[in-house]
Amino acid sequence: MIDSSGNTRRESNRTAMTSLEAILDESRRTVIFTGAGISTESGIPDFRSPNGIWSKFTPVYYQDFVASEDARREAWRRKLIVDRDMRGAKPNRGHRAVAQLVHQNDVNCVITQNIDGLHQESGIAEDRIIELHGNSTYATCLDCESRHELESILADFSRDETLPLCDNCGGIVKTATVSFGQSMPRAAMDRAEAETLGCDLFIAIGSSLVVYPAAGFPVLAKQNGARLVIINREPTDLDGLADVVLNEEIGATLGDAVGVS
Ligand code: NAD
Ligand code: ZN
Repeated sequence: MIDSSGNTRRESNRTAMTSLEAILDESRRTVIFTGAGISTESGIPDFRSPNGIWSKFTPVYYQDFVASEDARREAWRRKLIVDRDMRGAKPNRGHRAVAQLVHQNDVNCVITQNIDGLHQESGIAEDRIIELHGNSTYATCLDCESRHELESILADFSRDETLPLCDNCGGIVKTATVSFGQSMPRAAMDRAEAETLGCDLFIAIGSSLVVYPAAGFPVLAKQNGARLVIINREPTDLDGLADVVLNEEIGATLGDAVGVS
């Protein structure tokens, strides 16, 4: 809520839960937007945590991946390391609460920056999830876009660093994520924009809201007249825009508000 001095009010967990429930009840159409923070309770480090796997590597740019076998080998070596954290990760209380809201039709869709596939695994139908940065649980051919499973790719690569090629067309195969330097997926961006413009409540969860263009969606929602709620352990760049900011742990806050364990 905005207080009388015009500042966004940070709320205690108890009032926060009440107001989150009340705000959800009042909304006609709600969009949830998630970032890496919703998956830390599943054991996947977020982008900014010190010593997180992501902070150890400079990114392999898309252009380099396409142009150079060395860059592709480096990217797949990293994938083997990152996969140790991601593989076996299960949806946590925060994911389950979001899934419950979608099942109850209290939430229309989930726009996610995450690439871990945990919203799908929590039981949300594919057509209710919009992935802005792709998905790292499978790979695709850059030419014919056919899907390739990681298991055999990683088995071959860990044996002798064999680079995967498409068995359909011979093209280069890459995890289905959006790399630095790669263009954003047009269909996902269009759907996210339409959902954002169609909602009257936008809840951003577990994102530092600094990665653009993704972080443009909460801004767009607010500019279009929706209420904006931010749930994140730390302050974000967009707190000043929000109607409610909850600096809380995601699993407990959402789980209590939705009644999910
Ligand atoms: P970020 O790391 O920039 O921000 C995550 C935020 O979540 C942080 O501000 C942190 O304080 C907060 N947070 C972490 N755990 C929390 C918890 N349990 N409760 C409350 N708050 C918590 O993440 P971002 O904004 O999503 O941007 C990172 C980029 O890296 C994204 O584009 C994403 O694609 C990618 N990424 C994805 C994953 C994943 O798929 N799980 C993991 C790391 C990075
Ligand atoms: Zn192909």
